[in-house]
Amino acid sequence: MKKPLIIAGPCSAESRRQVLDSCLPLVGRVDMLRAGVWKPRSRPGSFEGVGGRALAWVAEAKRLTGLPAVIEVASARHVESALKYGIDALWLGARTTVSPFAVQEIADALRGTKVMVFVKNPVNPDLELWIGAVERLADAGIDGLSLIHRGFSYYGRGHYRNAPMWNLAFEMRARYPGLPMICDPSHIAGAREYVAEVAQTAADLRYDGLMIESHVNPSEALSDAGQQLTPDELIHLLDALQWRADGDGEFARRLERLRQEIDRIDSELFTLLGRRMAIADRIGEEKRDNNVVILQDTRWRAVVDNVTARAAELGLSSEFVHAILDAIHIESIGRQNKILNE
Ligand code: PEP
Ligand code: MN
Repeated sequence: MKKPLIIAGPCSAESRRQVLDSCLPLVGRVDMLRAGVWKPRSRPGSFEGVGGRALAWVAEAKRLTGLPAVIEVASARHVESALKYGIDALWLGARTTVSPFAVQEIADALRGTKVMVFVKNPVNPDLELWIGAVERLADAGIDGLSLIHRGFSYYGRGHYRNAPMWNLAFEMRARYPGLPMICDPSHIAGAREYVAEVAQTAADLRYDGLMIESHVNPSEALSDAGQQLTPDELIHLLDALQWRADGDGEFARRLERLRQEIDRIDSELFTLLGRRMAIADRIGEEKRDNNVVILQDTRWRAVVDNVTARAAELGLSSEFVHAILDAIHIESIGRQNKILNE
């Protein structure tokens, strides 16, 4: 497996001292430094970054560590200032990827440059916006493109600040197999104590790297205080992280056998689902011929009770079983509805 790219540094560059104290201890442990110079915040009045003044601090951190640095840009003006200070790489934040005008403006400002660009997923789970941003940058001739998966907003409160929705990142990876996919466990987790577990999941899912927020004094941070790690904590996390090998030989053969078994079971599963739907269709025809309503609540509750009891014995989680039953139910009702109205 290729060596993963590790990017770390503070959420925001707050002062020269804070940038240097956060970045210098990372020498030898990370491949690239990060810092937010301009911070797009959801609400006005929050700390919006110190602005262009911070570029000199990032440039100094680069010089002292010998590491390249990446910062966030959200406009053509940001791009021009960053390039003037010799910043090596830029990232588009989740609140920028959602905005085609902003992305286009940045792409136009980057035309003809050699800088690396990381594109974070949009805040909302809409792959088209992520793809659109990649297309705009690729059309502007940027070939050092990478993706950053930082999770998605969702209504209500969950375990993490942003829902990972790993499947969306997989779809993006399938769509752009040539683009490195970096995970940002800090913004997915939203809390220090969860950063390591998200990072390990990303490593297990063969991500190409990680971007993690690290601040010399996280509790005093002016942005994202709850999710940043001290440099020591970051180093500890990186030491504990396991990047497992791809595997070969006997292992690969065992894996292949298990995969064949999975393929066989999937095939059986869908054969059975097809048969189940064919029976639902026959019930639909009966209902049509006898002029009876489709949805019969008591019957459906009995089906759910039967299955959940059995599923619990098999160690299947109730969320999983309910999601599957809902999908089956929606499909059956849809088919019966069609039959009744044909
Ligand atoms: C950040 O990286 O500090 C940041 C603002 O990220 P995102 O755009 O993912 O919210
Ligand atoms: Mn942040």
